[in-house]
Amino acid sequence: MEVLIAEHSGFCVGVERAFRIALETAEASKSAYMLGNLVHNKLVVERLKNFGVKTVSDISEIPHGAQGILIISAHGVGPEVYEAAKKLKLEILDTTCPWVKKAQKIAKEFSDEGRLVIIVGDKGHPEVKGIVGWSGGKANVVEKVEDLGKLGLASETPVGILAQTTQPEEHFDAMVSALRKIAKDVREYDTICGATTKRQSAAVELARRVNLVLVIGDRLSANTKRLTELCAKTGTETHQIETVEELSVGWLVGKKKVGITAGASTPEWVVQDVIKALRSAPAGRARSSKSLSQ
Ligand code: SF4
Repeated sequence: MEVLIAEHSGFCVGVERAFRIALETAEASKSAYMLGNLVHNKLVVERLKNFGVKTVSDISEIPHGAQGILIISAHGVGPEVYEAAKKLKLEILDTTCPWVKKAQKIAKEFSDEGRLVIIVGDKGHPEVKGIVGWSGGKANVVEKVEDLGKLGLASETPVGILAQTTQPEEHFDAMVSALRKIAKDVREYDTICGATTKRQSAAVELARRVNLVLVIGDRLSANTKRLTELCAKTGTETHQIETVEELSVGWLVGKKKVGITAGASTPEWVVQDVIKALRSAPAGRARSSKSLSQ
């Protein structure tokens, strides 16, 4: 059995950088707080916890007088969080991805120019909440074309439109075209980083060449779920697993080529565990569906 790995898979550069910085800080045994989860992956969150990093969902959970470092995740935060950290006299370790920083800067620029700011993205996502903060809290977040109509925009309103970094390019283009039919003065800035698109194209390309695809990643990770959907759509048998413990021997029966891809929040050590198990699997002879790690 041949094991093939997607060309772009696993931690994106932004998450890899944030994780490395957070671990280095924790290893230096400084008292550290992580604001929100570094990524949507419980194994990563668990590892940081084991190194003593305390996760808080809001800065108000950090007691006054607590000394230490506040780690800002790759998704970034609004300016109000920097202010609050300063008041609490916390040292800030900012791991905001440079792509996200760029989107924050553009939102602020649009807002300073007096434009109505529109962000194409997922309202509940921490990255989007942070970008809204940089627009002075005034940005409108839209997910689909129909949402634009609900803004009640006058045609002469100056507008600036940007995107959450992980949005599909075609979707952003469609939103900009629809907006241009409503407003006359539109400034657009494509703030999409491309990591998601590259992972998706590589996963689909791989799925077409193999007999089975294993997508590794947390079930709460939206980008991992999307990879699973796209691979399954090719018609190739596809399974999403969180860890090697979920890998079933039965899936491997008769499979000559197995493809592996992983979400942008999946750490490399989890991917390597799966590859190791596959390489030592009794491929072609396996009949039961018990876990390979048993
Ligand atoms: S998906 Fe892109 S923008 Fe988001 S953290 Fe990764 S590299 Fe940065």
